[in-house]
Amino acid sequence: MAEENGNNGGAGEPRPSNFIRDIILRDLETGKHGGRVHTRFPPEPNGYLHIGHAKSICLNFGLAREFGGKCNLRFDDTNPCKEEVEYVESIQTDVRWLGFEWDGLYYASDYFEQLCEWAKLLIRTGKAYVCDLSADEVRQYRGTLTEPGRESPYRNRSVEENLDLFERMRSGEFPDGSRTLRAKIDMASPNLNLRDPVMYRILHASHHRTGDKWCIYPTYDYAHGQSDSIEGITHSICTLEFEDHRPLYDWFIRELGIHAPQQIEFDRLNLTYTVLSKRRLLRLVETGFVRGWDDPRMPTLSGMRRRGYTPEAIRTFCSRIGVSKTNGIVELGLLEHCLREELNRRAPRVMAVLRPVKLVIDNYPEDQVEQMEAVNNPEDPDAGTRLVPFTRELWIESDDFRETPPKGYYRLYPGNEVRLRYGYIVRCTGCVKDAQGNVVEVHCIYDPQTRGGNTPDGRKVKATIHWVSVPHAFEAEVRLYDNLFVKPDPDDAEPGKDWTSNLNPNSLEVLTGCRMEPSLKGAPPGSRFQFERLGYFCVDPDTAPEKMVFNRTVGLRDTWAKVEKKLNPGQA
Ligand code: ATP
Ligand code: MG
Repeated sequence: MAEENGNNGGAGEPRPSNFIRDIILRDLETGKHGGRVHTRFPPEPNGYLHIGHAKSICLNFGLAREFGGKCNLRFDDTNPCKEEVEYVESIQTDVRWLGFEWDGLYYASDYFEQLCEWAKLLIRTGKAYVCDLSADEVRQYRGTLTEPGRESPYRNRSVEENLDLFERMRSGEFPDGSRTLRAKIDMASPNLNLRDPVMYRILHASHHRTGDKWCIYPTYDYAHGQSDSIEGITHSICTLEFEDHRPLYDWFIRELGIHAPQQIEFDRLNLTYTVLSKRRLLRLVETGFVRGWDDPRMPTLSGMRRRGYTPEAIRTFCSRIGVSKTNGIVELGLLEHCLREELNRRAPRVMAVLRPVKLVIDNYPEDQVEQMEAVNNPEDPDAGTRLVPFTRELWIESDDFRETPPKGYYRLYPGNEVRLRYGYIVRCTGCVKDAQGNVVEVHCIYDPQTRGGNTPDGRKVKATIHWVSVPHAFEAEVRLYDNLFVKPDPDDAEPGKDWTSNLNPNSLEVLTGCRMEPSLKGAPPGSRFQFERLGYFCVDPDTAPEKMVFNRTVGLRDTWAKVEKKLNPGQA
C-alpha cells in the first residue's frame, strides 16, 4: 500500500486560504521568528487519535511542509494516571498512516528537570509560592467571573520557605493533594486563569516513562508553553478553548525570559452523529459498546482505517473544512462524500450478493460455464477487465425478486425481464417457496441473443441486477455499519439522560452466508472494493483463509452531493 504514504496532503486540492496561513505569511515577511516555521502536534497519550486530531495534524504538519519548516510530535505526558504506552505507539502509527513524518519526537516528560529548575527560578524571583490550600479551597478562593478571588494565606511565604517546601514536595515528603506550587499573578484578574494558577501538584503515581522518579507533576498550563519554547516552536497552534489561557502562556515565557512562541487558536472539529473526545470514546470501549478503539464505527483513525477510509480522503476532508475562529458542526455526510469520491476513483468493482436467493435459468445448459468479461473500474481505463464465471444457477439479492411487485418496481417478478450484469437478459417465470412461504428459488429463462446484455431488437429492459455463480461463489461474512448515534447532536438527550442514551443500538449488522465473486478469494486485509450496486467494502483484519470478513465502508448513495447541488444549483 505504498500509495497510502503519499505525502502531498490533500492530493490535487487547491490550498484554501486560512487565517493561520496568513499569520505565518506575515511573520515570514517581517522576519518575526527569523524566517522560521516550526510547529508541533502535542497529543496527550490518554487514548487513540480521532478525526478531530487529524484536523490538527494536517494543519500543523501541512503548514510546516508548505513553508519548508519543521513539525514535531510531542507527547503531552503530564498526567501519569491516564497515560499508557499503548497510546503512545498507536499515535505514532496513526500520524504516519495519515502521511506525515515528524522532525523531532519529544515528550513533555523529557523536560521535567528543566521545568523544575524554572519553577525554582520563579520562586526565587517571588513569582511562585507553595500553597497548602486543598483543591476545594483553591477553587473557593478563586472567585467567579463577577467576583474577584481572595489571596491564599500562604501567598506571602518567604523565598527560603518556598524553596524548602518545594524541594520537600519533590522528595516525596507530603501526601497527594496536600500542597501545590502556584504562580503569583493576580487574584483580581478578570481572567480566572491568571488568579494564581497551579503549576505543580503532588501525585504519587508511576509514569509510563519516568517511572517513580517524580511525585510532583507540572500542569498543562505550566508545561505546555515552556515545552514549546525549549523546542524552538514558532507557531503553537491549538484549539479555541485555550484562547483564555494565552495570557498565562505568555506570562510564564516572559517571566522566564525564554524564546517566545506564538499561540494561535482555531476551531475544534465537531461532526454530526459523532462524539470527538478521547474520554467519551474510552467510555464506549470500556463499557463494551464497541469492540475496541479500532472498531470500524469509531471516529478514531484506527477505526476509520479498519472501516476502509483512505488517508487521502481524510486529508482532503481536513483541507475542505478549513479553519476558523468559531466552533461549528460539520456534516458527517461531507466526510463520507470525500471518501466516496476517492474510492470511486480507486476501488475495483466486483459482484457480491449479501442476502442471497437462488436464480435458476431453466433453459440454460446444465454443465455450461461461460466466462463473462467484466470491467474492473469504469473510472480507470488502466484497471482492465476480468472474467466472471456464468452458469445455470446464480445467487441474486433476495430483494431483486418480488412475487407481487409494488408500483415502480422494475426488477424480477413473474413475466418481467431484467438484464444480468455482463450476462444475458432473462424473463422471470415464477418461484418455488418452502412450507413457510419463503421464496427459495426464482426461475427464469434466458434469451441467448442477448449475451453481454445487448438487446438486438432494441426492446426496453429497465433494470440491471448483479449475480454470482452458485458453483463458483464462496461464502463470507459482511459487517454493515450505521452511525454510532441516532441524533445529529448526541448531547441532545432527554432530561436526566446523557449522550450515551443516543447510542444507536443498530449500528452493527452482521450478515453471514453472503456469496462472493471468486476473484475476491484471498484478498488481503485492508483491500478495498466496490460491490456493484451495494457500496464500498474492505477486507477486515478478522478475515481468515477459510472465512473471509468484509466491512461496508460506505454506501453508494451520496446524500451530500444532493445537498451541495441544492446549495449550488449552477455547478456540476
Ligand atoms: P480530547 O478531548 O479528545 O482528549 P484533547 O484536545 O484533550 O482532545 P489532545 O491529545 O490534548 O486532545 O490534543 C492534541 C491536539 O489535537 C491539540 O492541539 C488539540 O487542540 C487537537 N485536537 C483535539 N481534538 C480536536 C478536534 N476535535 N478538532 C481539532 N483539533 C483537535
Ligand atoms: Mg485532553
